[in-house]
Amino acid sequence: MVRHFDASRAAFESEFAAFLKEERGTGHDVADIVSGILRDVQARGGEAVAEYTVKFDKLQIDPATLQSDNVNLHLLAAQCPQDLRDAIDYAHDRIAAYHTAQRPNDHSFTDDAGVQLGWRWTALESVGVYVPGGRASYPSSVLMNVVPAKIAGVERIVMVAPAPEGQLAPAVAYAAVKAGVDEFYPIGGAQAVGALAFGTSSLAPVDKIVGPGNAFVAEAKRQVFGRVGIDTIAGPSEILVIADETANPDWIAADLLSQAEHDPSSQSILITVDKSVGKAVDKSVESQLKSLSTGERAAESWSAHGAIVDAPDLATAANIANQIAPEHLELAIADPDALLPSIRHAGAVFLGHHTPEALGDYVTGSNHVLPTSRAARFSSGLGLYDFLKRMSVQRASPEGFAALAPAALRLAEAERLPAHARSVSIRSNREPD
Ligand code: NAD
Repeated sequence: MVRHFDASRAAFESEFAAFLKEERGTGHDVADIVSGILRDVQARGGEAVAEYTVKFDKLQIDPATLQSDNVNLHLLAAQCPQDLRDAIDYAHDRIAAYHTAQRPNDHSFTDDAGVQLGWRWTALESVGVYVPGGRASYPSSVLMNVVPAKIAGVERIVMVAPAPEGQLAPAVAYAAVKAGVDEFYPIGGAQAVGALAFGTSSLAPVDKIVGPGNAFVAEAKRQVFGRVGIDTIAGPSEILVIADETANPDWIAADLLSQAEHDPSSQSILITVDKSVGKAVDKSVESQLKSLSTGERAAESWSAHGAIVDAPDLATAANIANQIAPEHLELAIADPDALLPSIRHAGAVFLGHHTPEALGDYVTGSNHVLPTSRAARFSSGLGLYDFLKRMSVQRASPEGFAALAPAALRLAEAERLPAHARSVSIRSNREPD
């Protein structure tokens, strides 16, 4: 039974806040396990990576090269069926177009004091892309991470993906080849993150690690942050649907289940301004669960973390959505454009009845690596920007220098940094007091 909330009740706010705070995840010893693995990889390099790969993925790799004779990216890619290649090519081109449009411009202007100011965007040199591979295969994740890196101009894109017992989906291999991965290693988990961050004798360390993964991968990224950049700490997937009387309950039920099937800790929530839609969706979810091969996992997620919320009006629904700050938000209502300005916190928004979130997972072209666990309050989904850095640039003319020098000098003196002060005064022939 999924939980029901009524946003008109006085107790709603506290009850719903408690619901949102409920733990969705794994045990608490993940941090200790991961720090042990990372220490080991840092100390023993490829030997440690190879040992953990046998232990967790039952795959023998050569500690010197981190490769396995059983996993050849190009041979596997050739096994990908043609219709699936066509779909991957189609998704690739749409993702490439979307991220090309994200390219920001360099900027330069000269202010009243005669100082030229601006910034330049430059690409990262090397990036590690983690592609999860334990429970399922995700060719879409390959595209979502590699394509923007490529378009940004990253020179070295290293992909890691676990290949349990030597199994790697041909579609994952094809997507990697199509997107232009430069190096591939069949390794996963914290040991792969460690290899990317610290390097081994055959794998040069990367500058940033991106890509989703399970709790061990997420924790490993958290622990190597600072030594390398990371994109985000991805938690279990989430969907929130806001529906009115124009929504089709069967479509909404299918959309809610599309996230619930990812993981038992995923979260699917419906907010509706029409109680009869809520009841019909509830019924449809129960019936659709019976015909899903992933039904067991989805049912666990729906009953443990799902919810249906009755809201008095769309403004209230938008307020609740902002409180949730969901990874995915569908506005399955008659006039989604009218509500969109009220939405402040969501990873990605899907407008109208014909934009199911699953389209965005694969082929709209926008990125499906999105902030979860309320992180949409302070961050955005993966994009071209994640593979670029911004450098500020400035040039003072002699007149500009003369205008700025007195304040710079006074501040340097106040901060008791005489060398700072001198580097200004030496140019204006004025000694610091
Ligand atoms: P994974 O590749 O993330 O993890 C597999 C690795 O976990 C193994 O190689 C192993 O090294 C490690 N591991 C497993 N058990 C361990 C243990 N007891 N101790 C130490 N390490 C251990 O694959 P997965 O497990 O299938 O998880 C995939 C995750 O990625 C799911 O949570 C899924 O929801 C998420 N995902 C998210 C997105 C997104 O865009 N947000 C997309 C695709 C997948």
